[in-house]
Parts: sequence; C-alpha cells; structure tokens
Amino acid sequence: MRTAIIEGDGIGKEVIPEAVAILDYFNETYDWGIEKVPVEVGFGKWERTGSAITDEDIAVLKSCNSILFGAITTVIDPSYKSVLLRIRKELDLYANIRPILPIPGIYKLLKIKDRKESDVNMIIVRENSEGLYSGIEEIGDEKSTTTRVITKKASVRIAAFASNLAAGAERKNSLTVVHKSNVLKSDKLFLDSCKQTAESKGVNVSDKLVDIFAYDMIMTPEKYDVVVTTNLFGDILSDLGAVLLGSIGLAPSANFGDNQAFFEPVHGSAPDIAGKGIANPMAAILSLKMMFEWMGKKREACLVNRAVSAAIHDKIVTPDLGGKYSTKEVGDFILSKVRQLD
Ligand code: ATP
Ligand code: MG
Repeated sequence: MRTAIIEGDGIGKEVIPEAVAILDYFNETYDWGIEKVPVEVGFGKWERTGSAITDEDIAVLKSCNSILFGAITTVIDPSYKSVLLRIRKELDLYANIRPILPIPGIYKLLKIKDRKESDVNMIIVRENSEGLYSGIEEIGDEKSTTTRVITKKASVRIAAFASNLAAGAERKNSLTVVHKSNVLKSDKLFLDSCKQTAESKGVNVSDKLVDIFAYDMIMTPEKYDVVVTTNLFGDILSDLGAVLLGSIGLAPSANFGDNQAFFEPVHGSAPDIAGKGIANPMAAILSLKMMFEWMGKKREACLVNRAVSAAIHDKIVTPDLGGKYSTKEVGDFILSKVRQLD
C-alpha cells in the first residue's frame, strides 16, 4: 500500500505533519506496511520551478493507492493551472464526499444551543467530474458562457456511489437528490438517473430543490442522511455544511475514483494565518480518519475520533475554537490520546 503525502502550501505544511504523526504511530505499531511517498506540488513549487505539478508528479500519484493532501494556494495568473483540478481529472476522482458529523462536545465548547449534535449526521456526495465545472467556456467582452454538462453515465455513477453509502451499516438507507430541474432542464437527466439508480438498489430516494434544501439542511438537518448533488451545488452546500460542524477547521473530505482515494481538509491554505503555528489540525486529522475508514481500519478511525473529541472536551484547541494552543500542541495532545486509548 502506497500513500502519497502532499503537504502543499500555507497551513497545509503545518496541519499535515500532525496527521502523519498519527499515521506513523499506527503504521509502526501494527506493521501496516504503508509506504509514504512525499510529493511536492503547488504554488511554492511553481514559484521555484515555473511548474506547480509535473507529468512525473501525476505518474507518482497514479502509482499510489491513496493520497493525503493539505492545501494549495491558487493564484490568478494565466500561466498557473489549478493543481487540484488537474489531479481530479487525471485520477478521475469523480465522487467528493463530505461527512457532516459534529465532533462530540463541539457544540458545548462553542456554546451552540439552538441545535443538537445528535440531529446532525449527513453525508454530502458531490459529482466531481462535470456539471458547471466542465471547463467548456467562451469568454467575450459582451457575452461569456459556461456550458453545464450532465451525462447519464456520470449521474448513474455518482448515484450508485451515494446509494451504496446510504445502504451502509451505519446509515438510514435514505438518499436525497438535490437539484434545480424546474429551471435547469439539464438537471432532469441527473434527477431521473439518480432516482432510477437508487430505486434499483433498494434505497429510499426523495428529492429537493437546491434553494429550499440550503435552508432546510441548516434548520432541520435531522431530516437528511445521504445527499447527492451536482458539482457546483455540492461545492457550495458542503461549505455551508461546515456551519453544522462548528468551524471550517473541523471539516474533512474525501475524493474517490475507481483506482485512488484522496483525502483532504476542506479548508484552503489560509495565507492569513500561515506560518503562525495556529492552524487547527483537526480537519487534516479527521481526513486521515476517513482514510482509515476507507482502509477498513474501523477501530483506529474510531480511536482518532475519540482522541479529537477528548481534545475538544479538555479545551486543548487552537484560536479558531477559542483556545490558546498551537497546531503542534493540539496535534501532540491528540497523538498522546490515541496512544493512551489504543
Ligand atoms: P485558499 O486560497 O488556499 O483557499 P483561503 O484564503 O481561501 O485560502 P481558507 O483556508 O479557504 O483560506 O479559509 C478561509 C479562512 O478560514 C482563512 O483565512 C482562515 O482564517 C480560516 N481557516 C481556514 N482553515 C483554518 C484552520 N485549519 N484553522 C484555523 N483557521 C482556518
Ligand atoms: Mg479558499
């Protein structure tokens, strides 16, 4: 098993080492045989070499089973191509998964009283390969257009992925298709493909228009289990979902293709706090937890979750959660808890 480690730029360089320390602990203690493959891509590399990611980097990533990724700074420069978009395309990472599951104790810490942690347990599944991010654009001074592509193939593929998740042991076998097919006729194909696929798998399926869903997911999150949607809607809704987690610094994500799995915190490189040692490492650590789940290491995933929850309970947290601890102190505490619970 080969795991690529991409720290990337900004706070990616600070939070990923805290996750890797936990990976190292289990890998060494239990002889998991994971080979770590460091890969340097991103803005820093572009500044130094003129290229943010090379063909060789892509080849190395393709040779790995999984990838743990920090964050990359994307600058507006015609010669700078988005590294993430290229990785997503080349590895065909078509399913973006964001669990919206609050860490036990976080609402108490943040004094959130108007909702209950136990009401929030949903997964947003975003189609990652087409939709409004098709890349088909005509840009002019008077008129610019972007083509929104919906194919039956990609819709069925993502619906099958989401349905399998919904049918999983810890879920409620319920899938909500989020769309805007009353206005966007292209969404009729998405909606129909998702419904048929879910029904064929015996999953209870319903649908919701995206605008009302955005309101509903915050007001009554308990109504939702697995949610599947198109690329742009998924992008926006999954950031909105971080509200239910308490902080963007707590939101992990995964991207799956048929051959590789890619795990990353939802947040970006946060240049405003980079280098200060105050970034919250929990999103990166919870992304590692998702990697453990994907590897079938359920027990270890659960230990990581309990250790993060213990840090929150003991208020060993970074300034974004109202604490005074550094990235490293929080990471060290979580690792020591993992060891203790193991
Ligand atoms: P990028 O251009 O790389 O996406 P950004 O400026 O958009 O970077 P994000 O990382 O997306 O920054 O997050 C927005 C803000 O949220 C940051 O400026 C930062 O203040 C805060 N933030 C994000 N991640 C964390 C974290 N892990 N810990 C603490 N604060 C964070
Ligand atoms: Mg950002």
